[in-house]
Amino acid sequence: MNSEARNDARPALRIIPREQHTISRKNISKAALRVLYRLNEAGYDAFLVGGAVRDLLLGGHPKDFDVATNATPDEVKKLFRNCRLIGRRFRLAHVVYGPEIIEVATFRGTGEEEGAEGERRIVDGRIVRDNVWGTIEEDALRRDFRVNAMYYDISDFSVRDYVGGMQDLQDRVLRLIGEPATRYREDPVRMLRAARLAAKLGFSIDAAAAAPFEELGPLLAEAAPARLFDESLKMFLAGHGLKSFRMLEQCGLLKFLFPATARALRRGDEALRALVEQGLANTDARVVEGKSVTPAFLFAVLLWGEVRDLAHHLVAGGKDANEAWARAALQVVGEQCQRVAIPRRFTFTMEEIWSLQPRFEQVQRKKVLRLLAHPRFRAAFDFLLLREHESPAMRELGLWWDHAQQLPHDTLAAALPSHGGGGNEPEPAAAPVRKRRRRKPSAKSKPA
Ligand code: ATP
Ligand code: MG
Repeated sequence: MNSEARNDARPALRIIPREQHTISRKNISKAALRVLYRLNEAGYDAFLVGGAVRDLLLGGHPKDFDVATNATPDEVKKLFRNCRLIGRRFRLAHVVYGPEIIEVATFRGTGEEEGAEGERRIVDGRIVRDNVWGTIEEDALRRDFRVNAMYYDISDFSVRDYVGGMQDLQDRVLRLIGEPATRYREDPVRMLRAARLAAKLGFSIDAAAAAPFEELGPLLAEAAPARLFDESLKMFLAGHGLKSFRMLEQCGLLKFLFPATARALRRGDEALRALVEQGLANTDARVVEGKSVTPAFLFAVLLWGEVRDLAHHLVAGGKDANEAWARAALQVVGEQCQRVAIPRRFTFTMEEIWSLQPRFEQVQRKKVLRLLAHPRFRAAFDFLLLREHESPAMRELGLWWDHAQQLPHDTLAAALPSHGGGGNEPEPAAAPVRKRRRRKPSAKSKPA
């Protein structure tokens, strides 16, 4: 491992000329090209870097373009009117073109060289500040995976590969730069990035990079919950949520990020697994179709098993049903938010989606009409459809409500009993189901 670290310290630079790689400027956003050219014309080095280079080499369409340069943030700011400096832990420049933001980062050094400018702070092995400017070679070494450390040079359109990223792209493997345990201690979120990128790219994780997960996974508890929320969205709301989920489980990392989900799944509930997987698959389909998706529905899906089991437990202990559900939601959301900071506006919606579930079982006229008019009906109904694996009765219930909402208001009102039956399964006689149409828990139905 030491020899590997030594190799990394003296990388053999490989320059791949323009005609030997597949990156074409027409696949780079106009905004990124403008930033690159402007920096270059002003006499600075300017490279496209990181995930964008990786994805372009794989023939994909990067969703964001990052630029690396030897200009300091203040120098970048002087060059661009539409520029703001952000970040404390990691200071960089954002150049804004309409909806597009190009992130421009100054080459980072290791902080070990004399007279290094800026500031780098490591506490208990963790990088808490990384603002020491350095050379491009040093910048390459402090990146996470070898496939993420390639630079596209705007001055001659070549690709610079300092650490063997091209080889890994070919092998479809994620290898960390440097000694894995050290790199994860510096920043535990890199473990999640490994799982996320493996899922997104369909790559494997090198054995050496995966080995520390079990031992170092608990360090994720110290990562900033707001950052873990952002990372969760990148995992689950970017079109490869189901793959990310499976990869997290396979890596043994799910329990560190979503302990309640891992616990509920460990109880061996296959219906719950089906619900989670179907929920994630539906979300992925919506993303692919360009439809909106909400974190609230996603987290409602992930935490459902624990909330439901806890609510049932409280009811069995004699608690009133409404109170039991409210308590269960509060407890599970509270625990989860210590890890992943889910903003209040989303947890509020999650609680509504959950608390509406028992109300689907009450089919008196007034209650049905009131539920249909509820602002969160759509999301709660989509959620009900995901529960079809729980029992045949739940599946029937989904069909019943599917049909109910398609009936004209008066027809539905006339078909429903005005009282009684509340709190139980719908009476077959009262059910407005004439023609039973099977409707899949649909990717089209819009979680509100
Ligand atoms: P995505 O496809 O999600 O954008 P990405 O690799 O581009 O993946 P970004 O978060 O956009 O991820 O980061 C851009 C680049 O910055 C990475 O490719 C990598 O070189 C570097 N980087 C990001 N996060 C880290 C980290 N935690 N440690 C080291 N390097 C990082
Ligand atoms: Mg990126």
